[in-house]
Amino acid sequence: MKKCNQNIQNICDYIDGELDGSLCEEIDKHLKECRNCRIMVDTLRQTVVLCREGRQEHLPAEIENKLNDALRRKWEKKFKK
Ligand SMILES: [Zn+2]
Repeated sequence: MKKCNQNIQNICDYIDGELDGSLCEEIDKHLKECRNCRIMVDTLRQTVVLCREGRQEHLPAEIENKLNDALRRKWEKKFKK
């Protein structure tokens, strides 16, 4: 089983709907077994929705840090292409 931090990058793509079928299944499987990542996905989804609606909500610091880290890595990956 993959560790959570190996899934963060994929979870971003998972939420964006950009993830391959097989990786998507891997995340689904991990989410069933891992409460932390489920919370993260829920939070990330909410954040994405709130951003699209132009609203903001204060997130728990720990989740916000993880989120920022994941998003930063995602952006770095995009800009390096
Ligand atoms: Zn996890």
